[in-house]
Amino acid sequence: MKTKNVIVIGAGIGGITAAVHLAKHGLKVTVIEKNDHPGGRCDRISREGHHFDTGPTLMVMPLLYEAEFAALGASMREMLDLQRVDPTYHLVFDDGSQLALTSDMKSLQEQLEKFEPGSFQGLLRYMNEGHRHYLLSIKNLVYPDFRKASDFFKIGNLPLLHQVKPLVKHFANMSNYFKDPRLKAAFTFQDVYMGLSPFEAPATFSMMPYTELAHGVWYPKGGMVQVVEALMSLSREAGVEFTFNKAVERIDINEKRAHGVVVDGQMLEADAILANADLPYVYQNLLPQDGQAKKLDRKRYSCSVISFFWGVDKVYDSLKPHTLFLASDYRENFDSIIRDLGLPDNPSLYIHAPVRLDPSMAPQGQDTLIAIVPVGHMSESGGQDWEAIRDQARNKVFRRLQTLGIHDLEEHIKFEMNFTPLSWQKRYNLAKGSTHGLCHNLMQLGYFRPDNQHPRYQNLYFAGASTRPGTGMPTAMISGRLAAQRIMDNL
Ligand SMILES: Cc1cc2nc3c(=O)[nH]c(=O)nc-3n(C[C@H](O)[C@H](O)[C@H](O)COP(=O)(O)OP(=O)(O)OC[C@H]3O[C@@H](n4cnc5c(N)ncnc54)[C@H](O)[C@@H]3O)c2cc1C
Repeated sequence: MKTKNVIVIGAGIGGITAAVHLAKHGLKVTVIEKNDHPGGRCDRISREGHHFDTGPTLMVMPLLYEAEFAALGASMREMLDLQRVDPTYHLVFDDGSQLALTSDMKSLQEQLEKFEPGSFQGLLRYMNEGHRHYLLSIKNLVYPDFRKASDFFKIGNLPLLHQVKPLVKHFANMSNYFKDPRLKAAFTFQDVYMGLSPFEAPATFSMMPYTELAHGVWYPKGGMVQVVEALMSLSREAGVEFTFNKAVERIDINEKRAHGVVVDGQMLEADAILANADLPYVYQNLLPQDGQAKKLDRKRYSCSVISFFWGVDKVYDSLKPHTLFLASDYRENFDSIIRDLGLPDNPSLYIHAPVRLDPSMAPQGQDTLIAIVPVGHMSESGGQDWEAIRDQARNKVFRRLQTLGIHDLEEHIKFEMNFTPLSWQKRYNLAKGSTHGLCHNLMQLGYFRPDNQHPRYQNLYFAGASTRPGTGMPTAMISGRLAAQRIMDNL
């Protein structure tokens, strides 16, 4: 009997993971990627001895990675040279106060008590809640493959309504644990990874600060791109074929099935197709227009970011591996990004200095710095002047760095590269230039997120950030596994 074949559109984390599962199952798998290398958003740019991870910089939820590597028959710890980043983040507030989030409980206690007497007890209670939210959410929202509505709407899931607080707003929930607004910010800013403001995110997301402190934030030696390298080595072993520098132009639909994909005007037939390219982009650009694309366009998208990549001729020791500047006008910050799709006057922002973790990321005595400023995603009208916004963002980063006594960075930048929402859209075909795809509000979470299988074209599947279970590296791996399992069950 002829071996069945699967075409995967896109070599992002979800696409490569799915390809390995499928090839190990004995299917013929071809991955078609528009760029000249794999990884998608988990990308790397190198210049003059400086290495920049342009997408993910934080390895969070290590237990999920471990399980996904194990599902691929591999050991994460053997494939990646991991070090724990502790303190995870160095937080810098507008008033100059600083907080190093560390798993060293004594140090954390001393720091917290200076912010607010009694707050360490609050943290312990908050971590307890985060622990519960983590366990229940992973089990009931992240891991399950919801093939039919009754897989989600069942009596057993009813207690989740109070157990993981989906109807309580995350920031409002913080009043149960802290009074100081800086501490409320310190343990909710992670919601932006889900594309959400803590003022609208469900309190379920206390699972993020919990896992960061309890399971750690990690760094693979060589950077996050090592995760891509590891998956690529597994895919080579499994016999996956890759075609780079070729964009799929459309998915050919034959009655109720996807017949194949069109590349360079040529039709490539497949028994099943797995689209790892951003799901809204696939509906809008690769499939016949049947109203679904418009529906998706009306869904809520996560924000975007403007990123600066600087090769610097000296080392700025006051910048730690992950430094976060958190604005005191925390709420207005999120409002102007998420509601007004703009750049806040005084943005919260993030600086990554990988040399602190891995000296090989810059020439000796020099620094590699990445500054990430969250901004709104691209608007319908296309009225945002991204060059002007980028220049404002750059000045705001320089101004912010003065809080740490850094006044001369501009003079020491050897070269700069930057990404705006337009770059995210162009490089990876991300709808609206939204870096995390569809956001994770209540109505786009778990079962409510687009399924891993097309509702009409039954042999068309999806894996990646805008489908289930959602954004992030380990979740992209889970998404790839869930989609691959469906294909294996149905072919
Ligand atoms: C700035 C930034 C920071 C992040 N930080 C973190 C972090 O610290 N930790 C974390 O866990 N996650 C982080 N993420 C999220 C994480 O990177 C993503 O959720 C994950 O990588 C998405 O993987 P994916 O499977 O959806 O594939 P994608 O990365 O979306 O890859 C899809 C691939 O499809 C290709 N493609 C698109 N259209 C076509 C076409 N027509 N034909 C062929 N190929 C096509 C694209 O070129 C791309 O390579 C970050 C993301 C960004 C952008």
